[in-house]
Amino acid sequence: MSQENLVWHQSLVDRELREAANGHKAAVVWLTGLSASGKSTTAHAVEHALFEQGCQAYTLDGDNVRHGLSADLGFSPEDRAEHLRRIAELTKLMYGAGMIVLCAFISPTRASRQRVRELIPAGAFFEVFCKCPIEICEQRDPKGFYARALKGEIKNYTGISAAYEEPVNPELVLDTAADPPDACATAVIELLQKYRIVSPVAGAKAAANRGR
Ligand code: ADP
Repeated sequence: MSQENLVWHQSLVDRELREAANGHKAAVVWLTGLSASGKSTTAHAVEHALFEQGCQAYTLDGDNVRHGLSADLGFSPEDRAEHLRRIAELTKLMYGAGMIVLCAFISPTRASRQRVRELIPAGAFFEVFCKCPIEICEQRDPKGFYARALKGEIKNYTGISAAYEEPVNPELVLDTAADPPDACATAVIELLQKYRIVSPVAGAKAAANRGR
C-alpha cells in the first residue's frame, strides 16, 4: 500500500490533555556529544530526578535503541542517517504521548539534529551539547572503543575516523569534563524550569495522585 492511502488517526486524548494530567509539558531534550562525553549519564540522572518529582520522563539511549529498533543498521553514514531518522520519529511519538523525552545520541551531524528539531514544536526542543575534549573521552573510554578505533579496528568512529560537528546554537552547553553528573543534571532541569516545561514543584500533583 502506498503512503497516499494512509490516513493519520487522530487520538481522542491529545498531547494537551496528557500534559494537563501530568502536571508538566512535553519536551525533547536532545543530548549530543562525542562517545563517553557523558550523554547517557546525564540523561539518566535527569530522568531519575524528574521521575522522583512525578514527571513522565524516559531516556532513549544510543546503544539500547541499536539493540532493537536499529539492530539491522551499522555505522556507515547512510545507516547512521537511517538510525537517526527512526529515533526522530520515535521521539516525536513519545513527545505526542506527553512525555519529557531524553535522547542520548552522538548524532554527529548538524543536519540530522536539525531534522529532529523540525519535527518538534518550537519551544519544546532543547539541544544540549555535552562538551568534553576528545582526550578526556579517550581516557574514560568505558567500553574500550576509542582504543580499538585508534588501532583501526573500528571504522567510522566519531572523533577518530568520522567527523563530529559541534552544535552552533544549542539551548545548553554542559562542561562534562569539569562538572560532575549531578551538576550537569541540575543544569538541564533548571533549563526545563526556565522554559516552563516543568515547574519547581513539577508533577507534584501527578505524584500525589499516584500515591492515592
Ligand atoms: P556517552 O553516553 O556520552 O557515551 P557516558 O554517559 O556513558 O557517555 O559516560 C562515559 C563515562 O564517563 C562513564 O564512565 C561515566 O561515568 C563518565 N562520566 C559521564 N559524565 C561525567 C561527568 N559529568 N563527569 C565525570 N565523568 C562522567
